[in-house]
Amino acid sequence: MTTRFDAIIIGTGQAGPFLAERLAAAGQKVAIVERKLFGGTCVNTGCTPTKTMVASAHAAYMARKAADFGVTIAGDVSVDMRRVKARKDAISETHKVGVEKWLKQMENCAVYEGHARFESSRLVRVGSETITADQIFINVGGRALVPPIPGLEHVPYLTNSSMMDIDFVPEHLIVVGGSYVGLEFGQMFRRFGSKVTIIEKGPRLIQREDEDVSAAIQEILEGEGIQLRLNAECIGFSNHGGEIGAQLNCAGGPNEVTGTHLLLAVGRRPNTDDLGLDKARVELDKRGYIAVDDQLRTNVPGIWALGDCNGRGAFTHTSFNDFEIVAANLLDNDPRRVSDRIPAYGLYIDPPLGRVGLTEDEVRKNGRPALVGRRPMTKVSRAVEKGEPRGFMKIVVDANTREILGAAILGVGGDEAIHSILDVMYAKAPYTVIQRAVHIHPTVSELIPTMLGELQPLTDRARVRAPEAAASVQLA
Ligand SMILES: Cc1cc2nc3c(=O)[nH]c(=O)nc-3n(C[C@H](O)[C@H](O)[C@H](O)COP(=O)(O)OP(=O)(O)OC[C@H]3O[C@@H](n4cnc5c(N)ncnc54)[C@H](O)[C@@H]3O)c2cc1C
Repeated sequence: MTTRFDAIIIGTGQAGPFLAERLAAAGQKVAIVERKLFGGTCVNTGCTPTKTMVASAHAAYMARKAADFGVTIAGDVSVDMRRVKARKDAISETHKVGVEKWLKQMENCAVYEGHARFESSRLVRVGSETITADQIFINVGGRALVPPIPGLEHVPYLTNSSMMDIDFVPEHLIVVGGSYVGLEFGQMFRRFGSKVTIIEKGPRLIQREDEDVSAAIQEILEGEGIQLRLNAECIGFSNHGGEIGAQLNCAGGPNEVTGTHLLLAVGRRPNTDDLGLDKARVELDKRGYIAVDDQLRTNVPGIWALGDCNGRGAFTHTSFNDFEIVAANLLDNDPRRVSDRIPAYGLYIDPPLGRVGLTEDEVRKNGRPALVGRRPMTKVSRAVEKGEPRGFMKIVVDANTREILGAAILGVGGDEAIHSILDVMYAKAPYTVIQRAVHIHPTVSELIPTMLGELQPLTDRARVRAPEAAASVQLA
């Protein structure tokens, strides 16, 4: 027997539960389906647990540096990974249970536990049950990409999900992938006490960032003893009686790295391959993401896709914003759109990177006249006082409109301070609004107006000023 609803939501990530609440509150009969962990990636294997572990790693780092602050710690600093994991588990569990209880107690909302598959554009099967609705919202997220590298079948490997079970300090962690996930895990495990080697096939880390940002991050990580192998493509793995060997196609350095544990952090793939989308005739793009329009409608009327599975964002805040866009259009007569969103994200190495808008390189490529401002963290009192002068901040503005085009703050508090820039970008106000604002002393944010008062034309010469950032890193 098929049960009829007004709306079906597949997945309980960062969009689905909020949409369920809005639809149910509007009097609609809602079904929400979850196949595994309530709350999805962010809560269980992504943002929450990793940032909890980053905090433990920061505590270890600060404990080792305690003497610099005049604080004496008797004996060696050591890390009890079982307690690190227990702290992480407790925080994640609270979120997961919170989402589950919230949904199960929600009026007008039925929770189905199991894997959902379309049988047609209006019919979804969950185990032995079938449910139908005229509106279906897909919020199935993604998972770690496991590339078909020869020999992978002979070695144990970890992904961001299985890393959550680690309750010991690996002797030597090999991380394949020098982007966001790989760098966060790499630095935290180095601080926990592992030897860490990060293998990246490109010439620099996080290649979508500007070269000076990549260079400063490289110095931060190398300064903490992380081995980086750049321009090194992993072409095979072998099992050396318990040790893992990663064979590299590289120009310089040994062509094999051996370690005790292997983390694959080479990207994500959407959970769209086992959803019966062909039966619903929902179109995918060539990377396997669900194709959507600016208001997140798929090609099939009555089916929407939200969150990581639509390829329009890869973050918790973008998935939540997808919920806001769909709810505004359906319930509030407010035509919100994805294209209203300004790209913004953090990289949670320590110190963190806060990023908004275009990179300097992107501005340069699109050729519009621009101004750029820079300031090393060595010239930010708050950073110096905190004993963390690594990194730098920079901002690019349109020379004609005076609107801010993009910014990066790599440094202590960078993930928070970036928001004053983001908000002025949303206001479409000229940069002079921040330049003339009186910010609180001493903060990282107080130097944003100063930086904006020292803008220079964006030329090729300005680009080679990255050594400022390097100098600040060496001081740490
Ligand atoms: C290591 C790591 C760190 C991260 N850190 C950050 C960060 O600091 N900040 C940030 O903004 N983002 C971060 N992200 C990204 C963030 O986790 C995701 O962008 C976010 O979770 C949004 O996901 P979502 O809503 O699309 O779906 P998800 O959270 O992935 O949830 C999808 C849900 O759908 C369920 N599901 C899938 N298929 C089916 C099916 N067929 N039937 C039923 N249920 C199904 C899944 O079990 C899952 O619960 C991180 C990701 C990783 C991997």
